[in-house]
Amino acid sequence: MSAIKIIKASNTIITMDPAKPRAEAVAFDSETGVILAVGDFKDLCTKFPDVHTDDVTTVKVLMPGFIDPHNHPVSSGATTQPPAYWIAPYVTRETNGKKEYPYKTWPLVEDFFRTINGDEKIPHDQPLIFNGLDRMLQGAPELRRDTLDNYFPDRPVLVLDNSGHAAYFNTKLIEGNPDTFPDKKPIGNPTGGSFGTYTAEDQKDDNKLVVGESNGRAYETPAIMSVLNKAQLGLAIPNALRSAALWYALMAKNGITMTSEHTYGANMLEYYVALAKAPHSPLRVGLYHMSTDTSGEPGDKLEYPSDSPGLEARLWKQGIKLWADGSPWVGNLAASFPYQDSKTVNDAQIPRDPGGTKNLNYTPAQLDAILDKYVWMGWQFAFHCNGDVALDVVLDAYQRALVRYGRLGTDHRWRVEHCGACRGDQFARAAGLGIMISLPPFQFIYWGDLLDGEIFSPEIGSQWVRAGDAVRAGARVSFHNDGSVSPPKPLLNIQMMVTRRPTSPKGKVHGPEQAVTLHDALMAHTMNAAYHLRRDHDLGSITVGKLADFVALSDDPYNVHPEFISELEVNGTWSNGKRIDPDAFVSNFPDDSTSPTKPHPHLAVFRRCC
Ligand SMILES: [Zn+2]
Ligand SMILES: [Zn+2]
Repeated sequence: MSAIKIIKASNTIITMDPAKPRAEAVAFDSETGVILAVGDFKDLCTKFPDVHTDDVTTVKVLMPGFIDPHNHPVSSGATTQPPAYWIAPYVTRETNGKKEYPYKTWPLVEDFFRTINGDEKIPHDQPLIFNGLDRMLQGAPELRRDTLDNYFPDRPVLVLDNSGHAAYFNTKLIEGNPDTFPDKKPIGNPTGGSFGTYTAEDQKDDNKLVVGESNGRAYETPAIMSVLNKAQLGLAIPNALRSAALWYALMAKNGITMTSEHTYGANMLEYYVALAKAPHSPLRVGLYHMSTDTSGEPGDKLEYPSDSPGLEARLWKQGIKLWADGSPWVGNLAASFPYQDSKTVNDAQIPRDPGGTKNLNYTPAQLDAILDKYVWMGWQFAFHCNGDVALDVVLDAYQRALVRYGRLGTDHRWRVEHCGACRGDQFARAAGLGIMISLPPFQFIYWGDLLDGEIFSPEIGSQWVRAGDAVRAGARVSFHNDGSVSPPKPLLNIQMMVTRRPTSPKGKVHGPEQAVTLHDALMAHTMNAAYHLRRDHDLGSITVGKLADFVALSDDPYNVHPEFISELEVNGTWSNGKRIDPDAFVSNFPDDSTSPTKPHPHLAVFRRCC
């Protein structure tokens, strides 16, 4: 066996390298992971005569591995993989070869709650975590402690809103965490978060409710993170490392070879190191350190454990993460336009007025201070902003900082994240400042039919996720799934940004002018995403000298009807020249509470984003 391997494509290799867009075969060194040659199979065999037939793998179509440049793998694993329950409306289950949506509506979720509560096999003291409640898509009310008590009278339960911006919990959970809820009353609101309490109004409706006690609601990460205490968390998520490994495997099975952690805190390092070092580790991960992290200094360089040399190519700190506003699904995005007066919006109990600047997390002066702290260190910034008002404020702050530090026109690659409601003129301004735009096709995919006229006016809603405008503005655009807000599905993102038809194949096309070409959509999950993570020099295309991260597909996306791109099968991935077995990777982290690889549980697993 030679260290040199060849992959031959029976159909084609799509290299994403403009100098040589198509090829038949690629040769690479499986020890160093470096691509040695790209071209015709015969020529490669002549060039590398020692390569034996055992060293040749044949696939149908090969591409550079997909890149999801904005994700949250550790928290996604903890909140979607067993023993947590993923109850998002788009979660699918195969029954007798038929695809079903077991949590599509609130009544189905209610049935599931009752089934789980009646399951004798689940220990009664184990807090249960349900993640993915979506008030708009499922038609669910805003849950409260007393409503949850109806389903779960005697075991602690936490329900996480799909947006990541709200959580709901019952009386048993409150009683089990007197640190946060002494006498069942929240200790006070942490910076950037808040707890709900029963009001006199609530008591008028139900005289058993006590004014000032927790009503079982928490908003934003700082509050959500303290709903469970350490003991409860340890019972609820006994092996967060295995949960994360399951999420890595899910990403790999969807063709992804590189991603990010967009809510990194220093106390997550042991997780990411363990995941990066394990055999068959499928992902390279760039870390964006939250500016609000209290477990370590966000500006510090990553300290690699001394027993783990050479991890830098698989795990590195890429930048600093900030949040400008909230989410369109719970009503706290900073936008210039109102919600519709519709059944969907009213049933979800979302305030209709335009959030505007009152939904901003920072004042301009606070933004300047944060940027001042890190610009000189050379870090890239990544700024969550959903609303158009938020993007204006962020671009203003970016512009001031770029001028202040003489960095206009330099290769800074500062990013803005999501921008679902943002406009073409804003993208043109961003592109002019050299700002990278990472868009959320999932907002269009899962909410698109409702956005257009039901959640927002058609003028706003049909245009949601203006990929066409962003590409025309000359910005380098990437796409992301922002796990666990949506499942990692690059092929679905690509399809939807090409077709603009969320309900395929017969539904309505929303904002056809915001569609992009297949080439631009593929770029958004390969070269452009690599560029955003500052890995375009060694990843993102199949090019001699770059690293061998690949995905094999069942067909050429250019040869199938765009409505069926997401039906293509992922036939495997390679990371640094090694074929990945996702299940073998998961088996490194046995489902066993005595596993020596298991770090102590901590609250970092609840950090999400959008
Ligand atoms: Zn995020
Ligand atoms: Zn976000």
